[in-house]
Parts: sequence; C-alpha cells; structure tokens
Amino acid sequence: MKKRVWLTVVVLMACTAFLFMKLSTEEKAGYVYREGKAYLDMTIQSAAYDSTYSPVDRQLQLVVADNVYMFIENVPVVQINNELFPLAEQDFFIQNNRAFISASFLEKQEPSYVKLKAAYAILKSSQSSEEAAQAVSTKQFTREEVMQYMSGLTPPLENAKADTFPSHLPGADRTYRHGFHEGLDWYTYSAGVVVNKETEVYGMGKGKVVRVDHNYKPYESVEQRNKDLAYCKEVQKTPAYILDKLRGRQVWIQYDNGMQARFAHLDQVDEELNVGDTITKDTLIGYVGNSGTSGEVQKDNTELHLHVDLLINGTLFWKGLSQEDVKDVLISQLNNNE
Ligand SMILES: [Zn+2]
Repeated sequence: MKKRVWLTVVVLMACTAFLFMKLSTEEKAGYVYREGKAYLDMTIQSAAYDSTYSPVDRQLQLVVADNVYMFIENVPVVQINNELFPLAEQDFFIQNNRAFISASFLEKQEPSYVKLKAAYAILKSSQSSEEAAQAVSTKQFTREEVMQYMSGLTPPLENAKADTFPSHLPGADRTYRHGFHEGLDWYTYSAGVVVNKETEVYGMGKGKVVRVDHNYKPYESVEQRNKDLAYCKEVQKTPAYILDKLRGRQVWIQYDNGMQARFAHLDQVDEELNVGDTITKDTLIGYVGNSGTSGEVQKDNTELHLHVDLLINGTLFWKGLSQEDVKDVLISQLNNNE
C-alpha cells in the first residue's frame, strides 16, 4: 500500500517536472539573454506582436494595441506615436538581421501586455490597431499649418538669414547617397554670416532634449564611409541607419508644440546639455562642424555647415509643400534679417 502511494507521488512529480520544463522552454523561445538582461526576439515574437523589421533600413516598427514604436539601429531615440523619447543604448539592438527589444523596456511601456518573471517574460498577445500604425508619419501638412507650427521657432544661428540656396533646400538630390536632402542647410556663402567651428547653434524653441551625442563615434576611415555609400547605391536609397551615421554628431529636440529638430554635423555639443533637459530658443546646443561628412573623414575641414531636420509629429515639415512654399515659409519664419 505504502509503496503504491510513493509510486504515485513520484510519477506525479515527474509529470509536473516534465510539464514545467516543456512550458519554460516554450516560453523561452523568442528570447535571448545578454549581460543578464532578457530580450524579445521580435522576429519570433511577431506572432504575438505586430512588428515589421526592415533589414535594409535596420529599422523596426512595433504596434502594441494603440501604440506604434519605431526603432533604428544605434539611434538612442524611440519614436512612440509620432513623439520622440530617449532610449537607452542597450534597450534595442540588431544581430544577424534580427531585432531585439529589452523585455524590461517593454514591460515598463506596456505593463498590461508584458510581465517580467525571474528568468523569462510572459507575453499576452495584443490586438494591434491598424489605424494607429497607419497614422504614423503619413500625414502631410498644408502651407498654413506649417506656417503656424514654424511660427513657434526662431533661427538656430545668430544673425543668419534663411538659407534658400537651391541645393540647401529640402528635397534636393543627394546623389552621393542615392537619396534626397531631408532638412535645411546653413553655409557661410549663403547664410549671410560666417559658419565655422566657432559658430554657436541655438535651440530654436521651447522643448525637451531627447538626444545628445556626447560620445559620438565618427567613421574610422574614408573606406568605411565609402562602404556605406556603396550600400546606398546597391539599394538605391539611403537606409535609415546609414542616414543617421551620415548626420554625424547630433542633438535632437522634441518641441512642446509637436515639432521635432535633428541638429546634425555638429563639431561639439554643449557639455552641460543632457537628455531630459528643458530648453528654449536661447539655449546653446553646440557648435557647427562637419561630422559625418566627407570633410570629417578626409580631415580637410571642408563641408562645415549646420544641417537641421524639422519635423511635425514625425513627418518632415515640407512633405506636402511646393518648393516655392518651402522658400516662403523659411523666409517668413527663419529669417534674422527682417
Ligand atoms: Zn544638409
């Protein structure tokens, strides 16, 4: 009699152990562990989450319920529903063409869908909203709307006029990288002031710092940069992760009115400036440079200029405008010589 009870207990325990092992291996599929942190492999998790990974752009779009997330390799910013937020470097990475998001980041963002356990995370499938996904970065703005948004901004360089030199305008061809110009440029010969490494760059408006490249790593060689440009040629566009490298040392601002700025090619950023800081139009962002350009890798001091991308809720401001309208907007809103 006693023997039978023991046997039953042993069999039951074995079954439980087997079931537990099976369950936990299943739950662990789709995870990797890196330096003690759990990451979701979004390629495998795409059954539970609506995620789209672009191997060319090295960019991931993830939709959880009504929230749309956009990540790009080595970009320390996440776009959530057209707003920009700082992202810790270790919270997103790409390996062997697969995208990984840290489980703790997702748990913090989406507590009703992600629960972290000691060694793994439990996921609940989310009904993603197609409407939300489509609302991201597809809206274009009219001339009147753009004028309204831009009236909240001031020029980034003291005494400079709006630089409307044709190749400095957004939409201009950038054949060297098989793409087009996304933002505005200010060069010495067309901005009405000297633009060099002593030129101070200011914040343009009231907002929050979401990115400051204090630890910027330039291309190590001309060859390395050319390798990226060769890939642009191969895919006939500038992939998102390469575009970010070509912008060099950057500061990104999320303005209170919904606009965003990416200050690019900076030589230095202000040492006191940090992610999370609140800024105004008078805050020193950094100094003009040529980081990310051919002038930087060739060390010939060429290409010194300020480049700024301006976006309205994730969309480049000029997408719905004619070239003439863009010029008008710049002259009326970003001119110091009025
Ligand atoms: Zn530019």
